[in-house]
Amino acid sequence: MLIDLSKCVGCEACTVNCQAEWQLEPEEQFTKVHRYETGKFPQVKGGVVPTQCFHCHQPPCVEVCPTGASYKRPDGIVAIDEDKCIGCCYCLSACPYGARCFDSSRRIVRKCYFCYPRIEQGKEPACVNTCMAGARTFGDVDDPTSAISKAIKETKAVPIRGTSIFYVPSPHLDRSFLPPDLKEPGFVRWWKGVIQPGGKAVMAAAAGAVVVSLAINTINKGGGTGGDADARK
Ligand code: SF4
Ligand code: SF4
Repeated sequence: MLIDLSKCVGCEACTVNCQAEWQLEPEEQFTKVHRYETGKFPQVKGGVVPTQCFHCHQPPCVEVCPTGASYKRPDGIVAIDEDKCIGCCYCLSACPYGARCFDSSRRIVRKCYFCYPRIEQGKEPACVNTCMAGARTFGDVDDPTSAISKAIKETKAVPIRGTSIFYVPSPHLDRSFLPPDLKEPGFVRWWKGVIQPGGKAVMAAAAGAVVVSLAINTINKGGGTGGDADARK
């Protein structure tokens, strides 16, 4: 998705229409509009930066999810299988962009899905569809003929590296106001280095214990039959 900050007027229609589309609680927002000011009075300038799930290429949220509920679809969209989510919130801690929210009534985590049910019907995501300023463009960046590919080229949009989001910078806000390129959070490095191998070792030990237990059981049964046979002689 491309978000053109020179066009965005900060009306938050995207936030509200997304909430309606996904039937979110008022405090839940899949897309947010951040407001910034620069300079000193009377030379103050302002700008807005909408954010949402960045649909990272190698999503930290997916890496730490213990149940496989968070996953990446073949089309690149990062989604959540809500039936598999146990609400542990590891993904919330792992997301460097604060893009996920906890649904306290259902006790699961949710976030922007790029409106894939709408996309599958040939529609645009709700935030793109509702943006009267035309600040959002959605499409396939691997297709050079797509509207988004052309817009990226024409506007010299800035990619947020490691993610699926591009921004056209605001005339009043420099690059430092844009979200940073994706960097694997320390928590995720620690998770992959310590918790995951530890978990695998525990699983391997548990599996080993089951195998040994089955073997002992089999030997005991075998020994008992043989003993009976010996006794019958
Ligand atoms: S609807 Fe469009 S103009 Fe309004 S805040 Fe969202 S991106 Fe900006
Ligand atoms: S922005 Fe956060 S929730 Fe979205 S894919 Fe990246 S890590 Fe996952």
